[in-house]
Amino acid sequence: MPVEHAAIIGAGIAGLTAALALARRGISSDIFEQAPELAEVGAGLQISPNASRVLSELGVLEGLTSLWLEPQSIRLMSGSSLRELAAVPVGSFARNRWGAPYGVLHRKTLQKALLDAVFANPLCTLHLGTRFESDLPLGRRPADVIVGADGVWSRLRQAIAGAPAPRFSGNIAFRFTIAEAAAPGLVDRASVSALLGSSAHMVCYPLKETGGFNMVAITAGNIAPEAWQGQPTLAQQELLQSRFRRWHPAIVELLRDRNDITFWPLFEATPGRWQDGDKTVLIGDAAHAMMPFAAQGAAMAIEDAFELAAFLATRPVSEAISVFERHRTPRITKLRQRGAFNRFAYHARGPIRLGRDIVLSLKPPQSLAADLDWIYGYRPIG
Ligand SMILES: Cc1cc2nc3c(=O)[nH]c(=O)nc-3n(C[C@H](O)[C@H](O)[C@H](O)COP(=O)(O)OP(=O)(O)OC[C@H]3O[C@@H](n4cnc5c(N)ncnc54)[C@H](O)[C@@H]3O)c2cc1C
Repeated sequence: MPVEHAAIIGAGIAGLTAALALARRGISSDIFEQAPELAEVGAGLQISPNASRVLSELGVLEGLTSLWLEPQSIRLMSGSSLRELAAVPVGSFARNRWGAPYGVLHRKTLQKALLDAVFANPLCTLHLGTRFESDLPLGRRPADVIVGADGVWSRLRQAIAGAPAPRFSGNIAFRFTIAEAAAPGLVDRASVSALLGSSAHMVCYPLKETGGFNMVAITAGNIAPEAWQGQPTLAQQELLQSRFRRWHPAIVELLRDRNDITFWPLFEATPGRWQDGDKTVLIGDAAHAMMPFAAQGAAMAIEDAFELAAFLATRPVSEAISVFERHRTPRITKLRQRGAFNRFAYHARGPIRLGRDIVLSLKPPQSLAADLDWIYGYRPIG
Protein backbone atom coordinates (compact mmCIF):
# COMPACT_ATOMS: atom_id res chain seq x y z
CA MET A 1 0.00 0.00 0.00
CA PRO A 2 1.48 3.38 -0.90
CA VAL A 3 2.31 5.73 1.95
CA GLU A 4 -0.20 8.54 2.32
CA HIS A 5 0.53 9.95 5.75
CA ALA A 6 3.63 10.16 7.98
CA ALA A 7 4.26 10.94 11.64
CA ILE A 8 7.56 12.77 12.10
CA ILE A 9 9.13 13.02 15.56
CA GLY A 10 11.24 16.18 15.87
CA ALA A 11 11.15 19.50 14.01
CA GLY A 12 14.90 20.07 13.63
CA ILE A 13 16.52 20.32 10.21
CA ALA A 14 15.86 16.61 9.49
CA GLY A 15 12.19 16.65 10.53
CA LEU A 16 11.22 19.89 8.77
CA THR A 17 13.03 18.86 5.58
CA ALA A 18 11.35 15.46 5.69
CA ALA A 19 7.90 17.06 5.95
CA LEU A 20 8.62 19.22 2.88
CA ALA A 21 10.16 16.37 0.88
CA LEU A 22 7.18 14.13 1.63
CA ALA A 23 4.73 16.90 0.74
CA ARG A 24 6.52 17.32 -2.61
CA ARG A 25 5.55 13.68 -3.21
CA GLY A 26 1.93 14.27 -2.14
CA ILE A 27 2.43 12.62 1.29
CA SER A 28 0.97 14.50 4.26
CA SER A 29 2.55 14.56 7.72
CA ASP A 30 2.09 15.41 11.36
CA ILE A 31 5.33 16.73 12.88
CA PHE A 32 5.58 16.33 16.66
CA GLU A 33 8.09 18.61 18.38
CA GLN A 34 8.72 18.59 22.11
CA ALA A 35 9.71 22.26 22.33
CA PRO A 36 6.82 24.66 22.92
CA GLU A 37 8.45 27.02 20.43
CA LEU A 38 11.29 26.57 17.99
CA ALA A 39 13.95 28.69 19.62
CA GLU A 40 17.26 29.16 17.88
CA VAL A 41 19.74 26.46 18.84
CA GLY A 42 23.45 26.76 18.27
CA ALA A 43 25.08 29.33 16.09
CA GLY A 44 26.33 29.10 12.52
CA LEU A 45 26.00 26.44 9.87
CA GLN A 46 27.87 25.76 6.65
CA ILE A 47 25.57 24.52 3.91
CA SER A 48 27.52 22.69 1.23
CA PRO A 49 26.31 22.22 -2.39
CA ASN A 50 24.97 18.70 -1.80
CA ALA A 51 22.56 20.15 0.78
CA SER A 52 21.76 23.40 -1.02
CA ARG A 53 20.83 21.36 -4.12
CA VAL A 54 18.10 19.64 -2.05
CA LEU A 55 16.96 22.93 -0.52
CA SER A 56 16.62 24.27 -4.05
CA GLU A 57 14.43 21.29 -5.08
CA LEU A 58 12.23 22.00 -2.06
CA GLY A 59 11.84 25.68 -2.97
CA VAL A 60 13.67 26.87 0.16
CA LEU A 61 17.01 27.95 -1.29
CA GLU A 62 15.83 31.02 -3.17
CA GLY A 63 14.79 32.80 0.02
CA LEU A 64 18.05 31.86 1.73
CA THR A 65 20.54 33.18 -0.78
CA SER A 66 19.71 36.81 0.01
CA LEU A 67 20.22 36.11 3.72
CA TRP A 68 23.40 34.04 3.71
CA LEU A 69 26.98 34.65 2.59
CA GLU A 70 28.75 32.64 -0.07
CA PRO A 71 32.43 32.58 0.91
CA GLN A 72 35.03 32.62 -1.84
CA SER A 73 37.24 29.98 -0.25
CA ILE A 74 37.70 27.52 2.57
CA ARG A 75 41.15 28.18 3.97
CA LEU A 76 43.22 25.79 6.05
CA MET A 77 45.64 27.79 8.18
CA SER A 78 48.28 27.14 10.78
CA GLY A 79 46.98 28.05 14.24
CA SER A 80 50.46 29.00 15.41
CA SER A 81 51.64 31.17 12.51
CA LEU A 82 48.34 32.04 10.78
CA ARG A 83 50.01 31.00 7.53
CA GLU A 84 47.63 29.73 4.86
CA LEU A 85 48.38 26.06 4.18
CA ALA A 86 45.81 25.47 1.47
CA ALA A 87 42.56 26.88 0.12
CA VAL A 88 39.59 25.26 -1.58
CA PRO A 89 37.74 27.70 -3.84
CA VAL A 90 33.97 27.89 -3.30
CA GLY A 91 31.81 30.94 -4.28
CA SER A 92 31.11 30.87 -8.03
CA PHE A 93 33.58 27.95 -8.35
CA ALA A 94 31.25 25.82 -6.19
CA ARG A 95 28.23 26.74 -8.29
CA ASN A 96 30.12 25.76 -11.45
CA ARG A 97 31.86 22.62 -10.23
CA TRP A 98 29.14 21.13 -8.01
CA GLY A 99 26.09 22.77 -9.56
CA ALA A 100 24.86 24.40 -6.34
CA PRO A 101 26.11 27.08 -3.92
CA TYR A 102 28.13 26.86 -0.70
CA GLY A 103 26.67 29.18 1.93
CA VAL A 104 27.17 30.10 5.58
CA LEU A 105 24.31 31.28 7.73
CA HIS A 106 22.87 31.37 11.19
CA ARG A 107 20.95 28.23 12.11
CA LYS A 108 17.84 30.21 12.89
CA THR A 109 17.80 31.51 9.30
CA LEU A 110 17.63 28.00 7.89
CA GLN A 111 15.16 26.90 10.53
CA LYS A 112 12.87 29.85 9.79
CA ALA A 113 13.01 29.23 6.02
CA LEU A 114 12.07 25.57 6.55
CA LEU A 115 9.35 26.50 9.04
CA ASP A 116 7.81 29.12 6.75
CA ALA A 117 7.66 26.52 3.98
CA VAL A 118 6.08 23.97 6.35
CA PHE A 119 3.46 26.49 7.53
CA ALA A 120 2.66 27.41 3.93
CA ASN A 121 2.14 23.78 2.92
CA PRO A 122 -1.35 22.36 3.63
CA LEU A 123 0.07 18.81 3.70
CA CYS A 124 2.27 19.58 6.74
CA THR A 125 0.92 20.00 10.29
CA LEU A 126 3.30 21.00 13.09
CA HIS A 127 2.41 20.20 16.70
CA LEU A 128 4.65 22.10 19.11
CA GLY A 129 5.00 21.18 22.79
CA THR A 130 4.27 17.54 21.92
CA ARG A 131 6.90 15.10 23.13
CA PHE A 132 7.03 11.50 21.98
CA GLU A 133 7.58 9.16 24.92
CA SER A 134 6.42 5.68 23.91
CA ASP A 135 3.03 6.15 22.24
CA LEU A 136 2.56 8.19 19.13
CA PRO A 137 0.80 11.50 19.93
CA LEU A 138 -2.57 12.02 18.25
CA GLY A 139 -2.18 13.51 14.77
CA ARG A 140 -4.68 14.43 12.10
CA ARG A 141 -4.85 10.82 10.88
CA PRO A 142 -3.17 7.43 11.47
CA ALA A 143 0.39 7.27 10.18
CA ASP A 144 1.61 4.77 7.58
CA VAL A 145 5.23 5.49 8.54
CA ILE A 146 6.92 6.90 11.65
CA VAL A 147 10.04 8.98 10.98
CA GLY A 148 12.40 9.51 13.93
CA ALA A 149 14.07 12.88 13.39
CA ASP A 150 14.53 13.42 17.11
CA GLY A 151 18.26 14.01 17.20
CA VAL A 152 21.23 12.38 18.90
CA TRP A 153 19.22 11.62 22.08
CA SER A 154 16.41 10.03 20.03
CA ARG A 155 13.61 8.44 21.99
CA LEU A 156 12.14 6.70 18.96
CA ARG A 157 15.26 4.51 18.79
CA GLN A 158 13.75 2.40 21.57
CA ALA A 159 11.25 1.11 19.00
CA ILE A 160 14.05 -0.39 16.89
CA ALA A 161 16.03 -3.43 18.05
CA GLY A 162 19.76 -2.82 17.57
CA ALA A 163 19.33 0.92 17.01
CA PRO A 164 22.34 3.24 17.46
CA ALA A 165 23.13 4.65 20.91
CA PRO A 166 24.63 8.02 21.87
CA ARG A 167 28.31 7.96 22.82
CA PHE A 168 30.61 10.76 24.00
CA SER A 169 33.18 11.30 21.26
CA GLY A 170 36.04 12.56 23.43
CA ASN A 171 35.75 15.98 21.78
CA ILE A 172 34.36 19.25 23.03
CA ALA A 173 33.20 22.25 21.02
CA PHE A 174 33.47 25.79 22.36
CA ARG A 175 31.34 28.30 20.52
CA PHE A 176 31.21 32.06 20.53
CA THR A 177 30.83 34.98 18.16
CA ILE A 178 33.06 37.98 17.61
CA ALA A 179 32.80 41.32 15.86
CA GLU A 180 35.09 41.77 12.84
CA ALA A 181 37.06 44.48 14.59
CA ALA A 182 37.87 42.07 17.43
CA ALA A 183 40.27 40.05 15.32
CA PRO A 184 41.86 42.04 12.51
CA GLY A 185 44.00 39.88 10.26
CA LEU A 186 42.72 36.67 11.79
CA VAL A 187 39.37 36.42 10.06
CA ASP A 188 38.09 37.73 6.77
CA ARG A 189 34.59 38.01 5.45
CA ALA A 190 35.35 36.20 2.18
CA SER A 191 36.40 32.88 3.71
CA VAL A 192 35.64 30.02 5.99
CA SER A 193 38.92 29.68 7.90
CA ALA A 194 39.93 26.46 9.65
CA LEU A 195 42.90 27.06 11.94
CA LEU A 196 44.77 23.88 12.77
CA GLY A 197 46.84 23.03 15.84
CA SER A 198 47.81 20.04 17.98
CA SER A 199 44.74 18.36 19.52
CA ALA A 200 42.55 21.31 18.54
CA HIS A 201 41.23 23.33 15.65
CA MET A 202 39.12 26.42 15.27
CA VAL A 203 36.68 27.25 12.49
CA CYS A 204 35.68 30.88 11.80
CA TYR A 205 33.21 32.21 9.30
CA PRO A 206 31.25 35.41 8.80
CA LEU A 207 27.51 35.66 9.40
CA LYS A 208 25.54 38.19 7.40
CA GLU A 209 22.73 38.20 9.95
CA THR A 210 24.92 39.52 12.78
CA GLY A 211 27.73 41.20 10.87
CA GLY A 212 30.11 39.24 13.09
CA PHE A 213 31.88 35.89 12.97
CA ASN A 214 30.87 32.46 14.14
CA MET A 215 33.72 30.79 16.01
CA VAL A 216 33.88 27.10 16.89
CA ALA A 217 36.89 25.66 18.68
CA ILE A 218 37.03 21.88 18.86
CA THR A 219 39.45 20.11 21.10
CA ALA A 220 40.02 16.62 22.43
CA GLY A 221 38.95 16.44 26.06
CA ASN A 222 37.42 13.97 28.41
CA ILE A 223 35.25 16.17 30.54
CA ALA A 224 31.78 14.89 29.63
CA PRO A 225 29.01 16.39 31.69
CA GLU A 226 25.39 15.35 31.29
CA ALA A 227 24.33 18.76 29.99
CA TRP A 228 24.46 19.19 26.24
CA GLN A 229 25.14 22.88 26.35
CA GLY A 230 25.99 25.46 28.96
CA GLN A 231 28.52 27.89 30.32
CA PRO A 232 31.94 26.27 30.70
CA THR A 233 33.02 25.28 34.19
CA LEU A 234 36.44 26.27 35.50
CA ALA A 235 37.91 22.92 34.39
CA GLN A 236 36.53 23.38 30.89
CA GLN A 237 37.84 26.96 30.70
CA GLU A 238 41.26 25.71 31.76
CA LEU A 239 41.14 23.00 29.11
CA LEU A 240 40.36 25.61 26.47
CA GLN A 241 43.17 27.93 27.61
CA SER A 242 45.72 25.11 27.83
CA ARG A 243 44.89 23.70 24.38
CA PHE A 244 45.33 27.09 22.71
CA ARG A 245 48.22 28.37 24.84
CA ARG A 246 50.82 27.88 22.12
CA TRP A 247 48.69 29.27 19.32
CA HIS A 248 49.25 32.61 17.64
CA PRO A 249 49.09 35.49 20.17
CA ALA A 250 46.04 36.97 18.37
CA ILE A 251 44.09 33.78 19.15
CA VAL A 252 45.35 33.50 22.72
CA GLU A 253 44.23 37.10 23.19
CA LEU A 254 40.86 36.38 21.61
CA LEU A 255 40.15 33.55 24.05
CA ARG A 256 41.35 35.37 27.15
CA ASP A 257 38.69 36.30 29.75
CA ARG A 258 35.69 35.65 27.52
CA ASN A 259 32.46 35.03 29.34
CA ASP A 260 30.34 34.38 26.26
CA ILE A 261 31.70 30.96 25.33
CA THR A 262 29.24 28.07 25.27
CA PHE A 263 30.40 24.56 25.76
CA TRP A 264 29.21 21.52 23.76
CA PRO A 265 30.46 18.04 24.59
CA LEU A 266 30.19 16.24 21.25
CA PHE A 267 28.17 13.04 21.21
CA GLU A 268 27.92 10.74 18.23
CA ALA A 269 25.63 7.82 17.42
CA THR A 270 27.17 4.35 17.39
CA PRO A 271 26.51 2.24 14.27
CA GLY A 272 23.19 0.39 14.43
CA ARG A 273 19.89 -0.27 12.67
CA TRP A 274 17.87 2.70 11.44
CA GLN A 275 14.61 0.88 10.78
CA ASP A 276 12.48 -1.88 12.26
CA GLY A 277 11.51 -3.73 9.06
CA ASP A 278 7.92 -2.54 9.54
CA LYS A 279 7.15 1.20 9.54
CA THR A 280 9.60 3.02 11.84
CA VAL A 281 12.74 4.68 10.49
CA LEU A 282 15.42 7.06 11.82
CA ILE A 283 17.00 9.94 9.91
CA GLY A 284 19.55 12.69 10.63
CA ASP A 285 21.33 12.75 13.99
CA ALA A 286 18.89 10.16 15.40
CA ALA A 287 20.37 7.65 12.93
CA HIS A 288 23.99 8.76 12.60
CA ALA A 289 25.02 11.83 14.65
CA MET A 290 28.63 12.45 13.67
CA MET A 291 31.48 14.75 14.60
CA PRO A 292 31.53 18.11 12.82
CA PHE A 293 34.98 17.47 11.31
CA ALA A 294 33.55 17.41 7.79
CA ALA A 295 30.70 19.92 8.57
CA GLN A 296 28.19 17.48 7.09
CA GLY A 297 25.73 16.52 9.87
CA ALA A 298 22.93 18.83 8.78
CA ALA A 299 23.71 18.15 5.13
CA MET A 300 23.27 14.41 5.73
CA ALA A 301 19.98 15.07 7.56
CA ILE A 302 18.78 17.03 4.51
CA GLU A 303 19.88 14.33 2.04
CA ASP A 304 18.29 11.61 4.23
CA ALA A 305 14.96 13.41 4.32
CA PHE A 306 14.89 13.91 0.56
CA GLU A 307 15.86 10.35 -0.37
CA LEU A 308 13.57 8.76 2.22
CA ALA A 309 10.63 10.63 0.67
CA ALA A 310 11.58 9.33 -2.78
CA PHE A 311 11.65 5.70 -1.57
CA LEU A 312 8.40 6.06 0.41
CA ALA A 313 6.65 7.48 -2.64
CA THR A 314 7.52 4.54 -4.85
CA ARG A 315 7.56 1.41 -2.65
CA PRO A 316 5.60 -0.28 0.14
CA VAL A 317 6.71 1.20 3.46
CA SER A 318 8.66 -1.79 4.90
CA GLU A 319 10.58 -2.17 1.64
CA ALA A 320 11.12 1.59 1.32
CA ILE A 321 12.72 1.97 4.74
CA SER A 322 15.03 -1.00 4.32
CA VAL A 323 16.10 0.17 0.84
CA PHE A 324 16.64 3.63 2.38
CA GLU A 325 18.92 2.17 5.06
CA ARG A 326 20.89 0.08 2.56
CA HIS A 327 21.24 3.01 0.18
CA ARG A 328 22.33 5.61 2.77
CA THR A 329 24.62 3.51 4.97
CA PRO A 330 27.69 3.40 2.65
CA ARG A 331 27.65 7.19 2.19
CA ILE A 332 27.34 7.85 5.92
CA THR A 333 30.12 5.33 6.65
CA LYS A 334 32.40 7.00 4.11
CA LEU A 335 31.65 10.42 5.58
CA ARG A 336 32.43 9.25 9.07
CA GLN A 337 35.75 7.96 7.74
CA ARG A 338 36.44 11.34 6.15
CA GLY A 339 35.54 13.01 9.45
CA ALA A 340 37.93 10.71 11.33
CA PHE A 341 40.68 11.45 8.80
CA ASN A 342 40.10 15.20 9.11
CA ARG A 343 40.26 14.90 12.88
CA PHE A 344 43.60 13.10 12.62
CA ALA A 345 44.98 15.61 10.11
CA TYR A 346 43.57 18.76 11.76
CA HIS A 347 44.77 17.86 15.25
CA ALA A 348 48.14 16.35 14.22
CA ARG A 349 51.28 17.09 16.23
CA GLY A 350 55.02 16.98 15.64
CA PRO A 351 56.33 15.28 12.48
CA ILE A 352 52.85 14.31 11.28
CA ARG A 353 51.86 17.94 11.42
CA LEU A 354 54.93 18.95 9.43
CA GLY A 355 54.15 16.29 6.83
CA ARG A 356 50.55 17.44 6.67
CA ASP A 357 51.57 21.05 6.10
CA ILE A 358 53.93 20.09 3.28
CA VAL A 359 51.35 17.86 1.57
CA LEU A 360 48.67 20.54 1.89
CA SER A 361 50.83 23.32 0.55
CA LEU A 362 51.76 21.21 -2.49
CA LYS A 363 48.17 20.41 -3.40
CA PRO A 364 46.71 22.71 -6.04
CA PRO A 365 43.18 24.03 -5.36
CA GLN A 366 41.77 21.89 -8.19
CA SER A 367 43.06 18.74 -6.54
CA LEU A 368 41.66 19.76 -3.14
CA ALA A 369 38.31 20.39 -4.83
CA ALA A 370 38.45 17.00 -6.59
CA ASP A 371 38.78 15.33 -3.16
CA LEU A 372 35.39 16.83 -2.29
CA ASP A 373 33.52 15.88 -5.47
CA TRP A 374 31.94 12.79 -3.94
CA ILE A 375 30.56 14.84 -1.04
CA TYR A 376 29.53 18.10 -2.71
CA GLY A 377 28.67 16.75 -6.15
CA TYR A 378 26.28 14.10 -4.82
CA ARG A 379 22.97 13.86 -6.71
CA PRO A 380 20.32 12.42 -4.38
CA ILE A 381 17.62 10.07 -5.64
CA GLY A 382 14.35 11.89 -6.06
C1 LIG B 1 29.72 22.41 16.78
C2 LIG B 1 28.89 21.87 15.65
C3 LIG B 1 29.01 22.44 14.38
C4 LIG B 1 28.28 21.91 13.31
N1 LIG B 1 28.42 22.49 12.07
C5 LIG B 1 27.76 21.94 11.02
C6 LIG B 1 27.89 22.51 9.71
O1 LIG B 1 28.59 23.51 9.53
N2 LIG B 1 27.22 21.91 8.67
C7 LIG B 1 26.43 20.80 8.86
O2 LIG B 1 25.87 20.28 7.86
N3 LIG B 1 26.26 20.26 10.09
C8 LIG B 1 26.89 20.79 11.17
N4 LIG B 1 26.71 20.27 12.41
C9 LIG B 1 25.79 19.12 12.58
C10 LIG B 1 24.32 19.53 12.64
O3 LIG B 1 24.14 20.57 13.56
C11 LIG B 1 23.42 18.36 13.03
O4 LIG B 1 23.81 17.20 12.35
C12 LIG B 1 21.95 18.66 12.66
O5 LIG B 1 21.52 19.83 13.30
C13 LIG B 1 21.05 17.49 13.05
O6 LIG B 1 19.71 17.80 12.78
P1 LIG B 1 18.53 16.84 13.27
O7 LIG B 1 17.28 17.49 12.78
O8 LIG B 1 18.82 15.44 12.88
O9 LIG B 1 18.60 16.87 14.87
P2 LIG B 1 18.30 18.05 15.89
O10 LIG B 1 18.72 19.35 15.34
O11 LIG B 1 18.87 17.61 17.20
O12 LIG B 1 16.70 18.09 16.01
C14 LIG B 1 15.98 17.15 16.76
C15 LIG B 1 14.62 17.77 17.12
O13 LIG B 1 13.81 16.76 17.72
C16 LIG B 1 13.20 17.28 18.90
N5 LIG B 1 12.96 16.14 19.79
C17 LIG B 1 13.89 15.40 20.45
N6 LIG B 1 13.31 14.41 21.15
C18 LIG B 1 11.97 14.53 20.93
C19 LIG B 1 10.84 13.77 21.39
N7 LIG B 1 10.98 12.70 22.19
N8 LIG B 1 9.59 14.15 20.99
C20 LIG B 1 9.45 15.24 20.16
N9 LIG B 1 10.49 15.99 19.71
C21 LIG B 1 11.73 15.62 20.08
C22 LIG B 1 14.22 18.28 19.43
O14 LIG B 1 13.62 19.22 20.30
C23 LIG B 1 14.74 18.91 18.13
O15 LIG B 1 13.94 19.99 17.71
C24 LIG B 1 27.42 20.80 13.51
C25 LIG B 1 27.27 20.25 14.78
C26 LIG B 1 28.00 20.79 15.84
C27 LIG B 1 27.83 20.19 17.21
